[in-house]
Amino acid sequence: MNEHTLRQNIIDTCLSMNASGLNQGTSGNVSARYKDGMLITPSSMPYADMRPKDIIYMQMDGTAHGDHNPSSEWRFHRDILRARPEVNAVVHTHAVYATMLALVEKSIPAVHYMVAVAGGKTIRCCPYATFGTQALSDFVLIALKDRLACLMAHHGMVACGVSLDKALWLATEVETLAHQYWGALQIGAPTVLSDAEMDRVIEKMKSYNYGKGD
Ligand code: 13P
Ligand code: ZN
Repeated sequence: MNEHTLRQNIIDTCLSMNASGLNQGTSGNVSARYKDGMLITPSSMPYADMRPKDIIYMQMDGTAHGDHNPSSEWRFHRDILRARPEVNAVVHTHAVYATMLALVEKSIPAVHYMVAVAGGKTIRCCPYATFGTQALSDFVLIALKDRLACLMAHHGMVACGVSLDKALWLATEVETLAHQYWGALQIGAPTVLSDAEMDRVIEKMKSYNYGKGD
């Protein structure tokens, strides 16, 4: 994909996450691997005003090239892309239900088999650290071990994928699961699927192609 198209795809991903209610205002940020670095949204710019030239190119050493400041969260975008070669895109949102669980520091257990789409038997909530810090990035990377998504305490969520489409798809799935779990908690104490069942689901999903189709 050429650079201009990828820059536009990042903007389209931002517009789509706000239009679907997955994010609000200038919260959230999006990145995609490009060459030896990444393309990332500028900090605090309304997505509707964003043009391809406003997207920042950043080298993996943190050197930024562009007309604006890179997203304040460039550290976890850079650290994820550097640590996880299978990931090519990262979406961070303040999705309402995911964030509500994050406010009470709750991970999402295997209350629904679809939890496995994030890569395992839970979707972890990482501890709180100030936005934009290396401490936050370090916590996010730990929570993403063997996973493609996590919640961030008192903040929001991160979802990753092989492409921007897949990262956005996963963010939507995580928000749906958070909504369902939150609702179930209002009714009573949702039961958790057994480890053996989740092992079966995880195995079955490998051939089901969840979220992989275009
Ligand atoms: P930026 O506008 O700097 O990307 O920050 C938004 C955000 O969600 C910080 O966590
Ligand atoms: Zn944020």
